[in-house]
Amino acid sequence: MNEIVSYFSAIPSSHRSLILVGGITIFWLIENAFPLFKFTYKKWHHAGINFFLTFTTILINFSLAFILLKTSDWTIANNFGVLQWLPTMPLWLYALIGLLLLDLIGAYLVHLMEHKVKFLWRFHLIHHTDTWVDTTSGNRHHPGESVIRFVFTTLGILIVGAPMWLVFMYQTISVVSTQFTHANIALPKKFDDFLSYFIVSPDMHKVHHHYALPYTDSNYGNIFSVWDRIFGTFMTLSKDKVIYGIDTYIKPEENNQLNNLLKIPFQEQRSAENS
Ligand SMILES: [Zn+2]
Ligand SMILES: [Zn+2]
Repeated sequence: MNEIVSYFSAIPSSHRSLILVGGITIFWLIENAFPLFKFTYKKWHHAGINFFLTFTTILINFSLAFILLKTSDWTIANNFGVLQWLPTMPLWLYALIGLLLLDLIGAYLVHLMEHKVKFLWRFHLIHHTDTWVDTTSGNRHHPGESVIRFVFTTLGILIVGAPMWLVFMYQTISVVSTQFTHANIALPKKFDDFLSYFIVSPDMHKVHHHYALPYTDSNYGNIFSVWDRIFGTFMTLSKDKVIYGIDTYIKPEENNQLNNLLKIPFQEQRSAENS
């Protein structure tokens, strides 16, 4: 465990990039071999949009990373945050509690709010416009959403009192987990069901990408599924009933054009009835 902590304390940027690119490549190969849905789409055009939005997400997070560092250092120096207030415990338990709480505040809570607060939904809906969810969809976030998520990550670090190695550990697991839950792969149903008791499984997150309510407003979890189960937002829908996309933007010229996707948050908002 100590080796893991020291690895994440000083994880080189090159390793982080390698995990991101390597993960997408591996899941992309698996998707090709064992796809859940046989999409007929321009795979590179689709991936191009998602890679651009992944790139802007990385750029925003990279240029603001110093804020995370400063926040984390401040919590440790001032003995602030849940982890600092808890009694001494084994390192693995400390890490597990930290990861769970970072997942709650920096991922579950912000995601829930993005669905419930109209202004935040304007940005988040770009993630939902994808009609061919695959491993490249994981970080399809409008730059505005990347900033919103960054604010909540910072808030999470502050409340949790998370040391930087834990933040890096969380972000690394989160990258791979996101690629996994979006990948166009079909696990045996029983295995997927079993996984969904602990972590967000591919089938579980696919329900969140169903084009219509109430399913769009379910399964907000990122790494751990426990928050959806505790807060009653866990839903199931069989794979053959899932239709990707969002009911307000069903036209391909709107949901499959980068230019338009970037503009959507600043256009007039629609409800499903008048789309
Ligand atoms: Zn969502
Ligand atoms: Zn998603």
